[in-house]
Amino acid sequence: MRAIASPWLWLVLLSASAPDLDFLPGILLGNESLFHRGAGHSLAGSFLYGLSVLVPALILTRSWRKALQAAALGAGLFLSHLLLDLVGRDPSPPHGIQVFWPFSDVYLVSPWHLFPHLERHPFDWSVIPRAIPVVAAEVVLLVPLLLAARGLRLRREGRKSRSS
Ligand SMILES: [Zn+2]
Repeated sequence: MRAIASPWLWLVLLSASAPDLDFLPGILLGNESLFHRGAGHSLAGSFLYGLSVLVPALILTRSWRKALQAAALGAGLFLSHLLLDLVGRDPSPPHGIQVFWPFSDVYLVSPWHLFPHLERHPFDWSVIPRAIPVVAAEVVLLVPLLLAARGLRLRREGRKSRSS
């Protein structure tokens, strides 16, 4: 139960999903793709997101060290989202994401696609059954990485406790 209430867990969940918040202004204007994969999916967006985490983290923790850790974690997870979008299939133009916005308007995408495409049109409740195989593929590809990271962490913690 403690993990569910942890502010760090909520920071992780929000940060990893934050780039896709660029759907919201488009949804309000009637075209969910209007701003998607543009400035909100850029290195500059990651930096600004990290800054936006820094101030509330400083207020909540009253510690520069913890606030900087939170900002770095947030920006890093934001970047991980960009990396995963770069290796996802994107058949609808413009293909990819504007990684280098505002310095370049070019959309980039990897020639190698690790993840299948999720057709979002129509963007309504029918997207959920179409998302199931996409989510399943992401789970199959990413859960082993998560388990490996957890295994490394447990091993490192085991080494620390044996040495002290
Ligand atoms: Zn995205």
